[in-house]
Amino acid sequence: MSFFDNLKDIYRKVSEVESAVYNGKQDYLEIYERNLQLEKEIEERTRELNIANKRMLTLQHIWDMMNASRPLQSVLETIVNSIQGELGYLHCNIIKKCEDENGIYLTVLAQSNDISIKRVDKLIKGPIQARRLVYDDNSIYAKAAHEKKIMLTPDIGGTLKSVAPDIQDEIIEEVVEGSPSKAIITVPLYTRNLHYGWFNVFSSRKELTSGETDFLTIFAQQIEMAITIAGLFEEVKAQAVTDGLTGLYNRRYFEEYLKKEVTRALRQKQAFSIIGLDLDHLKQINDKYGHAYGDLAIKTVADVLKKNARSIDTAARMGGEEFNVILPGVDSNGAMAAAERIRKALEDKKLDTIGHITASIGVATFLEHSDNIEDILELTDQAMYQSKRNGRNQVTLAKPITETSWQEVAINTFMDILSKHNIPLDEDISNKIKNKLQNPKDEIPKEMLYSVADMLTQVYNPLHHNGIMKSKVLLAVSLAKRFDLSKDDIDKLRVAMLLYDIGNLMLPSELLQKTSPLTEEERNHIKEHPIIAAREILQPISYIQDIIPIIEHHHENWDGTGYPAKIAREEIPMTSQIILIVDAYFALTEPRTYRAEVTPKQAIEIIKQDAGKKWNSALVQEFISLIDHDI
Ligand code: GH3
Ligand code: MG
Repeated sequence: MSFFDNLKDIYRKVSEVESAVYNGKQDYLEIYERNLQLEKEIEERTRELNIANKRMLTLQHIWDMMNASRPLQSVLETIVNSIQGELGYLHCNIIKKCEDENGIYLTVLAQSNDISIKRVDKLIKGPIQARRLVYDDNSIYAKAAHEKKIMLTPDIGGTLKSVAPDIQDEIIEEVVEGSPSKAIITVPLYTRNLHYGWFNVFSSRKELTSGETDFLTIFAQQIEMAITIAGLFEEVKAQAVTDGLTGLYNRRYFEEYLKKEVTRALRQKQAFSIIGLDLDHLKQINDKYGHAYGDLAIKTVADVLKKNARSIDTAARMGGEEFNVILPGVDSNGAMAAAERIRKALEDKKLDTIGHITASIGVATFLEHSDNIEDILELTDQAMYQSKRNGRNQVTLAKPITETSWQEVAINTFMDILSKHNIPLDEDISNKIKNKLQNPKDEIPKEMLYSVADMLTQVYNPLHHNGIMKSKVLLAVSLAKRFDLSKDDIDKLRVAMLLYDIGNLMLPSELLQKTSPLTEEERNHIKEHPIIAAREILQPISYIQDIIPIIEHHHENWDGTGYPAKIAREEIPMTSQIILIVDAYFALTEPRTYRAEVTPKQAIEIIKQDAGKKWNSALVQEFISLIDHDI
């Protein structure tokens, strides 16, 4: 081969290599580009997967919530918060369509707790969730419900105006202008084929993609499911007649059954009895061994009741540690024997770790103790408390209402108030008083009551002296006797004397212990509030209803200038007038944080000045003659 041939060859090869390189480069570029494309696609897919994953997690979260059978409100709140937070919407809510006697309206059932809604609430000066919203036939909501489909509207202002037309246009403008939301997407909700409301999201985009439609629809279905399940759950719960822990009948069933039993008893003129049982010292068992053992004690009582009741007897757990048994056709003798059998059977059981438990029992018989079933339940309760007071682990038969002494009424009232936690009282004091009421030892009930009332008074008035209550009651009773009040009225007066200031326990202590003179507003609060509070505290206690009016009117003046009803003269119960004058006298002769006491003589002078105004002159006269004996 010549040199030139060689050269040509080399050139050819070079150009071959060159073109190969070029081609390779082309290939490489293609691959590179393909890779880039692929990477982009992967990125895209990953993003989609991520979103799908997030949706899955959100759904999972929602399912977990639903299975935890929490109240609907809190389930829905969790759902909207998850959707808003995890899927990046600006706000999310569920609106319910409601109807009452004033027509159809809307209410926000649940809403995500985000900055958007906080801003709106601030601008419209109050939470939108608290509003009764308007249902407008031309709104997006009405359209979406009518067409049964998901809808989007960019008109946020118009939508707000449609549900809350009272909001001023300028405020609506401000809401819209400062908000990053570009559209509201609304999905109508249906439960059991009935229109329920709407699930709404506030989006930062103006359009609705098909993917978004799909998943919002899925979420709406989850919400519908939650609402349906919650509704069914409520229905089932409302239909339940047994108690979960013990399997005994619950209070609801007991009350239904009792009504039937009363009708039957009245028709056949045949008595029936009720046994009321309360476990002794359950709190101690809980505290010492834990709640599980407290539950064991409760279940044990239930077992004993089941074993010792005849097949026609109905045993129910009324709540907590309280049980009732209805014994059809059984008189008080039979019921006492049955109750004693139950008491003994319980006492004989030996429980794991806690050992023996006992219960206090009360028995009352319909048509024997009263023909009013409310009274019978109350008497059963009172008899049960009597068993507690006499040392627990025993059975007490109710006394007919008329034989119940005023001391018992007062003791039961104090017990009721303290055990129903109607007043905010330091637990130590509450327990100390309960103990005193239940374990009288050798104290005469009357004396014990005076000292309980003194203890309660000291809670709101630390300057109050022991023994004052007794003097007050005795003075009031002497005065009542001078006006020939009946024994019944005098008994009521005694109870009212012990209770008339109980409402003071509801006053803020800063106010009561203020050393500077009170302002006008504070004085009014101190004046009016205790009467309202006393009524609230005493209203739930059925057997002292006739004492409440006496207490309510103990600040009415003879000339009609008092409060709260501003009644005058004979309209004011005599017992209330007596409380007013006795209270005034003792208030004047006792020191207060903001003033010193006056002498009895000075107090009488002050009272005399108001004869014919604050009090009846005849009352003042009798009062002075009584006091003059003592000073
Ligand atoms: P007493 O002898 O005066 O009846 O004392 P007590 O401790 O039984 O009564 P008290 O009313 O002071 O307390 C009742 C306690 O019962 C308080 C409450 O926590 C507890 N309790 C109520 N229901 C249940 C329950 O279902 N399980 C458990 N473990 N404890 C309960
Ligand atoms: Mg108890």
